[in-house]
Amino acid sequence: MHVLSSIAPIFLLATLASAKPVPRSDQVVRCTLTSDAQIAHIKSSYLDVWSHSLGLNHPTDIRVSATERAQLEATGAKCDVFIDNLAPLLQAEQKPHLAVRQGPSALAADPFFTSYKTYSQIVDKVKAWEQAYPDRVKYLGSIGASTEGRGIPAFKITNNKIPSFSKRSIYFNGGIHAREWISSATVMYIANALITSTDAQLSGFLDKVEFYITPISNPDGYEYSRTTDRYWRKNRGSIPKSNCVGVDLNRNWDEHFGVVGVDSDPCSETYNGPSAFSEPETEALSKFVLSLPNRLAGIDWHSYGQYILRPWGWTNTKSKNEALYKALGDGVRDAIVKFNGNQYSSITGAQLYPAAGATDDWMTAKAKMTGFTIELRDTGRYGFVLPANQIVPTGEEGVVAVKAFVDYVLKTSIPPAV
Ligand SMILES: [Zn+2]
Repeated sequence: MHVLSSIAPIFLLATLASAKPVPRSDQVVRCTLTSDAQIAHIKSSYLDVWSHSLGLNHPTDIRVSATERAQLEATGAKCDVFIDNLAPLLQAEQKPHLAVRQGPSALAADPFFTSYKTYSQIVDKVKAWEQAYPDRVKYLGSIGASTEGRGIPAFKITNNKIPSFSKRSIYFNGGIHAREWISSATVMYIANALITSTDAQLSGFLDKVEFYITPISNPDGYEYSRTTDRYWRKNRGSIPKSNCVGVDLNRNWDEHFGVVGVDSDPCSETYNGPSAFSEPETEALSKFVLSLPNRLAGIDWHSYGQYILRPWGWTNTKSKNEALYKALGDGVRDAIVKFNGNQYSSITGAQLYPAAGATDDWMTAKAKMTGFTIELRDTGRYGFVLPANQIVPTGEEGVVAVKAFVDYVLKTSIPPAV
């Protein structure tokens, strides 16, 4: 008996400690919508849809307050709580972790990848790489200014001892959607692997490829998502005759601009802007891509959902290169499964959700490259609020994806799609 009584206070203390209330915050609910009225309610209430699509009869993730959830369910929408409380996730997301040596890229631990970084830290890291690896890295400076005047940084990774004319250009774009922090982190992780890894295939790529990278292509939105609104997606451009701010930069490219999957309401998260390339970020990015010599392929990195998305994004009509693109996408998917068992889906962009004016379609149609989108981790457990301890494992999946992707596009002759 006396043993029990000595344990009880400790047990009680532990119970009290674990019962410490976590501040309430928004939830993410996964709903199945069954009527146009429910969709109209979500749009008119400007609920924050986290899924790629807003449509009938398939699971749709939506961030809601308690009041918003009650109003949504009053429309008859059937919703399950998917993330009960975002507040502790926001705390966990920022918690640094110890990077470990792991995976196929044979990287030494780098504290840079133990937490999500600021815009300035990302730019400084690129400059530090150039200093440390002048034979491999060239910081190209800013390719243009954002709406708020931040430079959009770009850099090149290649083996400088081999002349340019014999190489192909491959482009990686990170962070075009502000809240998808894992995109910029992964693009930087891949760059680190290309620069520092002893892996023979990765260093072999540098003899044949010039990798051009814009790791943080929406710097204003990224900083705004760090300082003010964690769930911000668009840029920070002002809209004439509207109180709402921001254009969805991944709907603003000059490729079937505005025909599908966009919203003309400036307050919408998928507002595509008044015209193609109306935004300084997309204008600068597109000019940069068109300036690249011997363009071969590009990947626009996003989260979340775990998809390898091939052309086309704007139409369900298959590309004339469908067989080649599918083999490429399936190969990337299979390489990741083989690496760690994590499942990505290999489909066309439009199979996920038809959307026009996106980076990938523009790369394919207008820049005559093989343009893909990769949606990184996860499948909704954390959504955009992916903990920092997933930067390294997600980065490793990115490296595996790049190895399969680059190997294929170097070996396979893929004609222009249009
Ligand atoms: Zn995105």
